[in-house]
Amino acid sequence: MEEKNLAPEAEEKEVVSKHFIEQEIDKDLAEGVYNHVQTRFPPEPNGYLHIGHAKSILLNYGLARQYGGKFNLRFDDTNPTKEKTEFVESITADVKWLGADFEERLFFASNYFEEMYECAVKLIKKGKAYVCDLSAEEIREYRGDFTNPGKESPYRNRSVEENLTLFEEMRAGKYQDGEKVLRAKIDMASPNINMRDPVIYRVARMEHHNTGNKWCIYPMYDFAHPIEDAIEHITHSICTLEFEDHRPLYDWVVKECEFENPPRQIEFAKLYLTNVVTGKRYIKKLVEDGIVDGWDDPRLVTIAALRRRGYTPESLKMFVDLVGVAKANSSVDYAMLEYCIREDLKLKKARMMAVLDPVKLIIDNYPEGQTEELSIPNNLENEALGERLVPFGRELYIEREDFMEEPPRKYFRLFPGNEVRLMGAYFVTCTGCEKDENGNVTVVHCTYDPETKSGSGFNGRKVKGTIHWVAAHSAEKVECRLYENIVDEEKGKLNADGTLNLNPNSLTVVKDCYVEPALKAARAYDSFQFMRNGYFCVDCKDSTPENPVFNRIVSLKSSFKINK
Ligand code: ATP
Ligand code: MG
Repeated sequence: MEEKNLAPEAEEKEVVSKHFIEQEIDKDLAEGVYNHVQTRFPPEPNGYLHIGHAKSILLNYGLARQYGGKFNLRFDDTNPTKEKTEFVESITADVKWLGADFEERLFFASNYFEEMYECAVKLIKKGKAYVCDLSAEEIREYRGDFTNPGKESPYRNRSVEENLTLFEEMRAGKYQDGEKVLRAKIDMASPNINMRDPVIYRVARMEHHNTGNKWCIYPMYDFAHPIEDAIEHITHSICTLEFEDHRPLYDWVVKECEFENPPRQIEFAKLYLTNVVTGKRYIKKLVEDGIVDGWDDPRLVTIAALRRRGYTPESLKMFVDLVGVAKANSSVDYAMLEYCIREDLKLKKARMMAVLDPVKLIIDNYPEGQTEELSIPNNLENEALGERLVPFGRELYIEREDFMEEPPRKYFRLFPGNEVRLMGAYFVTCTGCEKDENGNVTVVHCTYDPETKSGSGFNGRKVKGTIHWVAAHSAEKVECRLYENIVDEEKGKLNADGTLNLNPNSLTVVKDCYVEPALKAARAYDSFQFMRNGYFCVDCKDSTPENPVFNRIVSLKSSFKINK
């Protein structure tokens, strides 16, 4: 029993039921298969990370922590075609932002090319790999399919010496791309197609972001990945379900390369969300077609986009914990992600006043030229956030929808003759409005009762409606960006031709919103509740002191309920 290696947190977790990966790890530790836990997150640097990757990162990091083990960040950069340094940087930043601490263990698979080459040589010497001259197309034909067994390559029985020479020549650059490959010699009749002598090395003259032009042969993923894991002494190589059929090959590679205490692969279901585009391929296309403003456009669910929108690492952690770890693919409601950010911000953020669709409200009996400052609590549910001073005066901005000349039943806001409370200020009674030649309301008029100042007991009166406001004399003009889902799941994520069915209203830019002057001090990524309008975050890219820009993270209303 290796219980002594477990961190104290491991026992605390005992109370809730464990998911299947934890159960597998417990079993391995109990049986002495491993005496420690080492996990990794192995992204290919060919795009930005998305919410699905966040799940994988937090799962791998969480398991390492829970079992007192270690977590590595490793770039799986064995395919130079699509890889870029920009992606290496963004991925590293995202993993750090999520709080998954890889300490000094940042690795690149490309730094193991020499060891991988040695492993291939070892296989050749053992008669377990051969150089094959068939073309890619011929290899595919010879492979067979689910119903037909494969056919052996005519090059399968080359001697060890000949294979060694040819493989060395491949490395030395003697052959053109595609002219020769190295294949594992396993079983052309295997029911698992992955085991029918898979290609493990190919010739490819490509410049690599890390190794430059040092190599003109590159290992294939299924050969490279288990070796990377083994070199780093990974114990549990956690990946997504599509690799389940590759597991026998993974096991074959680590066994035949004779790694001691080799890692084992465990698969879990990918995370999919409704109404958004997950999957690097689609996101990349939206970026390249200029449909979104880069990889961090707040309508995307890349980690960079979620951060820009105002999501927090805590909210993403809550989300992946709620989703859990499953063995079957399914889609999670986007509303659940929204629930998590609301929960996270609810008690942490100040609740401020901002008017998104302003119309002027004039208090005719408030002395002209007079202003005052009212002290308003920042968050009624969390006193620790204190109070702030909010300027008040004769002219205010209110939301256009908070006044109606002819209200329907159960409308408790401003209409002629009705009294409402101005949040944190006074009671006012509507006296009428002014309109332009088109009949649009330009100014709403009211009178106030000085005896109803907030905190005074309201002069013994009660009203049904409370509205928010911003004093005109000190209001700060800002731009707000409101978002809807980028695709509408109900109408189908994809059109008949395979293109994405985009929601034309996914972005609404609202200029000339008014906010309290206190928000002038807000900096990139700062977030607030704008009362009744939702949670907002200062845009990190486009916001300037002259033109502050706020992204709506999420509205306040939720259709989503959690059964706790
Ligand atoms: P995509 O499918 O978006 O192109 P990928 O799987 O090609 O992503 P990689 O960089 O190869 O991206 O993946 C790094 C790790 O993240 C892998 O271990 C992969 O299994 C995991 N991963 C990728 N997408 C998801 C997802 N939707 N849910 C959970 N884990 C994921
Ligand atoms: Mg991939």
